[in-house]
Amino acid sequence: MTMPLSIPPASADLLPRLIFWETTRGCNLRCVHCRATATELSSPDDLSTETCLNLIDQIASFSRPILILTGGEPLFRKDIFEIASYGTKKGLRMALATNGTLVDDDVADKIAAAGFQRVSISLDGADAATHDAFRMIPGSFDAAVAGLKRLRARGMSVQINTTVAKHNADQLPQVLKLTQDLGADAFHIFLLVPVGCGVEIGQEQMISARQYEEILNWWYDQSKTVMMDLKATCAPHYFRIRVQRIMDEKMRGETPQPFVAPGTQAKAGHVDVVTTPDGQGLPTPALSAMTRGCLAGTGVCFISHRGEVFPCGYLPVAAGDVKSRPFEEIWRDSPVFANLRNPHMLGGKCGQCEYKFICEGCRARAYAQTGDYMAEEPFCAYEPGERRVGEIHDLHMTSDSPMPETTIPWSEDARAAVARSPFFIRAKIVSFVEAYARENGLASINAGTVAAARCKGESLVR
Ligand code: SF4
Ligand code: SF4
Repeated sequence: MTMPLSIPPASADLLPRLIFWETTRGCNLRCVHCRATATELSSPDDLSTETCLNLIDQIASFSRPILILTGGEPLFRKDIFEIASYGTKKGLRMALATNGTLVDDDVADKIAAAGFQRVSISLDGADAATHDAFRMIPGSFDAAVAGLKRLRARGMSVQINTTVAKHNADQLPQVLKLTQDLGADAFHIFLLVPVGCGVEIGQEQMISARQYEEILNWWYDQSKTVMMDLKATCAPHYFRIRVQRIMDEKMRGETPQPFVAPGTQAKAGHVDVVTTPDGQGLPTPALSAMTRGCLAGTGVCFISHRGEVFPCGYLPVAAGDVKSRPFEEIWRDSPVFANLRNPHMLGGKCGQCEYKFICEGCRARAYAQTGDYMAEEPFCAYEPGERRVGEIHDLHMTSDSPMPETTIPWSEDARAAVARSPFFIRAKIVSFVEAYARENGLASINAGTVAAARCKGESLVR
């Protein structure tokens, strides 16, 4: 039995729910993966203050989205607080996406006073060495953490964003712990899209479709217990995985978990409900403004520092330019957006997929791979109709990743126990179990050793 979903395709009168606005290309960092290919100084092409305020008027005239001021580094703009205050005055929910390194006490005071409802800061590793190598500026990790703490001290809601790629996938559990220790309200992982500078590092840093599957299944497991808003951004297949896991849990007679952690629901205040084929409702968070996978052009758009409108910041197919056409007209009438709002136009396996209405695949990764933004998502391991309910829980146990190197002989059943854990924590498991074996004078490791190590208190092994 496959699981076609009864969620309808996006309609033409959808309003924007999240607008990412690249207020400037100027930035003080040189991140390896940057979409913006940032320049050192604010670009002369950046929109004037007057044009920015006018754009806010245009947006507020027909919608009330969350407006995320991003860059480059938005704090490079001298008028960024004027823009934020104006948006707040116009009834928009303003958010700031910053690298955090420029947030000294004075800037933190100004951010708090400008009415921002949330500030997101990127941490691309659990430690300074990993983050700084990615950001290409020594000291940027410590500066970002210090900025985050200043914001928390002022009562600001803080979100941590992490771009997941080969260099840091094995640190995800540690980054999650760090976000909790820092008191963040939200932790969003972003799966790398090979765009901008990301094109150059794409092949080297992209993880495989199967590894995405493992990460997203692990993410689902974490969402059941972590009291924080956890969101997998630009991983549209996470919505397919969540439905598969929940339906699978129901088949096994377990109480299905809600889509979000209990803490998230408390913060969200209310939840939306999507309906599954059996007529039952599944809750989904309202606060994170996500009701399905890829929202590019349906609930989300991106406005460049020059005023061009794109479906998202990673899909370089322009829908219009606010300098020459009203924003509402672009949002409602652009052919690019019309295509993206029609899942029946999806190609390849996404077009055949029973989950296409809640997932759609990443249109930017499809575009980067093929030049056709309606082509199939290249980093999804799912084959439409392939997985049946009841098999789904095995998905994250079938990695194409090799067993980490061992220093003590491991039996086949012990290796199998490791293979049942996500690829990115296996090295840690092996090292923990081998340390346990050495402490206890064991010359080899079998499944019993693994189980005993787990009993000792390490919860990494399934
Ligand atoms: S196309 Fe969709 S999933 Fe891909 S980067 Fe853009 S918004 Fe994210
Ligand atoms: S095949 Fe496409 S629509 Fe189906 S789950 Fe994968 S990415 Fe989503």
